Amino acid sequence: MLETLRRIIQEVNLASDLEQALNIIVTRVKEKMCVDVCSVYLASESQKRHILMASDGLNPGSIGKVWLEFGQGLVSLVAERAEPVNLEDAPSHPRFFFLAATKENPFHAFLGVPIMHHRKVLGVLIVQQRAMRRFLEDETAFLLTIAAQLAGAIAHAEVSGGISGIGGISSLPGSVADGISLKGLPGAPGVAIGTALVVYPPADLDSVPDRQTPPADLELEVSCFRDAVDQAQSDIRTLQTRLKTVLSSEDQALFDAYLQMLGSASIVDDVIERIRNGGWASSALRDTIANHVRVFENMDDPYMRERAVDVKDLGRRILMCIQKGRHNPPPYPERTILVGNEITATMLAEAPVERLVGVISAKGSSSSHVAILARALGIPAVVGVQDIPVSRMDGRELIADGYNGLVYVAPSEQIRREYERLARDEAELVAELEELRDLPAETPDGYRMPLYANTGLLSDITPSLRSGAEGVGLYRTEFPFMIRDRFPSEDEQYRIYRKLVEEFAPRPVVLRTLDVGGDKALSYFPIVEDNPFLGWRGIRITLDHPELFLVQVRAMLRAGAGYGNASILLPMICNISELDEALFLIHQAYRELREECEQVTKPSIGVMIEVPSLVYQIDAVAQRVDFLSVGTNDLTQYLLAVDRNNSSVASLYDSLSPAVIQAIKLVVEGAARHQRPVSVCGEMAGDPRAALLLLGLGVDSLSMSASSLSRIKWVIRNIERSKAQALLADVLLLETAKEIRSYLDEVLIAAGLGGLVRAGGK
Ligand code: PEP
Ligand code: MG
Repeated sequence: MLETLRRIIQEVNLASDLEQALNIIVTRVKEKMCVDVCSVYLASESQKRHILMASDGLNPGSIGKVWLEFGQGLVSLVAERAEPVNLEDAPSHPRFFFLAATKENPFHAFLGVPIMHHRKVLGVLIVQQRAMRRFLEDETAFLLTIAAQLAGAIAHAEVSGGISGIGGISSLPGSVADGISLKGLPGAPGVAIGTALVVYPPADLDSVPDRQTPPADLELEVSCFRDAVDQAQSDIRTLQTRLKTVLSSEDQALFDAYLQMLGSASIVDDVIERIRNGGWASSALRDTIANHVRVFENMDDPYMRERAVDVKDLGRRILMCIQKGRHNPPPYPERTILVGNEITATMLAEAPVERLVGVISAKGSSSSHVAILARALGIPAVVGVQDIPVSRMDGRELIADGYNGLVYVAPSEQIRREYERLARDEAELVAELEELRDLPAETPDGYRMPLYANTGLLSDITPSLRSGAEGVGLYRTEFPFMIRDRFPSEDEQYRIYRKLVEEFAPRPVVLRTLDVGGDKALSYFPIVEDNPFLGWRGIRITLDHPELFLVQVRAMLRAGAGYGNASILLPMICNISELDEALFLIHQAYRELREECEQVTKPSIGVMIEVPSLVYQIDAVAQRVDFLSVGTNDLTQYLLAVDRNNSSVASLYDSLSPAVIQAIKLVVEGAARHQRPVSVCGEMAGDPRAALLLLGLGVDSLSMSASSLSRIKWVIRNIERSKAQALLADVLLLETAKEIRSYLDEVLIAAGLGGLVRAGGK
């Protein structure tokens, strides 16, 4: 059973459009379940009907032409109930509706299961039989499993089909005349209108995109592919020679098999043919390898099935060689919207800033690092767009609405005009906000709330300085570690931190010690874990490697020498012992530097409150350090048990959740008992709604992406502290994040600050 499921799902995932995907499903299910009919009806929200989209067993002429209105027939019954309906004799059921257009006499046995995607019924999968019989429990379970597993693939194919205009589905949701709109999550505020450039990790065949235009010189493309194959052959020979002494002759045979495959006409000729038909070497290779993998995976002999892995490996090797041979950067369009399955810091950093207008990532949530970086660069971003068919997006015209987390593919003239207007309003708002740059962040009733910048990239200093930040509230030191191929030395680190400290002096600069692990990886220090966010991360790594920690702390202490404006912040502390150990090491570094006659001063030390356990030990923490900084990105993730990068659960991730607000309240109250200042440095601090609450809660300062600073300053300068305190009292009575969000939106709109929470809004 499992094997059949696996094969069907694989085939469906490889389907090029919805029609093909659905045909595979109905044929395979009918075959496997030995029934007379298997059909799929898909819901069309706009037409309020379920349309017969594929069938094996019903009259082929009725596909796409036959439907049941919502509420009509057994198909609707399955959709309404969102559960299986299993009937021995369907025609005798009161909801039975005979579809004469299928030109079939009624079937008796009926089993229908809903196809659910993100809580929505996409359609209904049905099997029927002429004879009267009740379907077995096993059969129901099989059909339910197929439907559950296929929902994502169907949603995906539906969007792809809509995008490439593949026939038969124009009546379906997602393919409306306005172009395709896809729902993701707000990543960074703003609106971007531009052309998609798909970026993908090297040597990853699955993410190789289709290109809109064929290569200019097909023969050149063929020869580039041949060179890559030669290179791959020679790499494999080198590997084989290197491992000759360690591998048995049977094991070495694997390399011979690889070489044979590379030498055989089947793969090479197939790719060349695809190129000559107008394909790019990489995408031609992707499709050829996918076909070969499918053939091997469908073999009954388990040994032969395993060979699919070898074919994939071989494909990756050739791709690597193709990519090595191309030194040219991708052709960034005039107004580039970067699109990727998972956009990384380096992909963003590589794009020329003057051309980059937007970012769309299939993975991630509003607090994942791609969103943080986009905000730092002031570029609108939509993340967690799960249904975006990345490989088909290159060269498409797109709109990214970073306020609402929406993406429009090939938008209609009307939508485009509307967004152009919003973008103009947005530009006006930014210009207005610019005027606030040198004004203090002070409420109308005279309360000062310093606003600091979060930085990490060197190129980030200028926007932070220009944004009117009163200092750096969080310097994420991991970026300089991520862009190298080894740990930076003490002097290298010193130079980076010193530049920052000098540029901002006398304004404060908070340097956070290395916080890698989780979703921040160092290529030269790989960490493979099942649960990276609960694993070896942040201070846990640096305490296990005091040699790395001490080098970093020494560089930080030296960077602050003579200026006295640098402090040290410790990430991911989860208990008091860790804190004590870290403090001990910082004092050791300080002592040693003094012994070496460096003019360092005792640093001010802070702790990030981002693991919930510290909220409940806030007194013990506050007694030991000079300041506290609430990392709401991780605090939300750990309090709510929602992976901050997982788009499947991203709707549950909300820093405005009452639990998060109560936790921050406990921290502020605890810190006040020991006269310690509290800052909030998570992305929450840059959300105008949250800023109102944090002002009311009595947080001492906020630190955020430079691009959010003026927006938050606008809030602070327009809302009295007393008003923020009063609205906090109301919010503390609300029980859901949704209620809190709409309450705060109303407050902002009533205060004339609606433009901060919706595109072009006043
Ligand atoms: C946080 O967790 O809120 C934070 C500021 O740190 P990072 O986003 O780098 O994990
Ligand atoms: Mg964190």
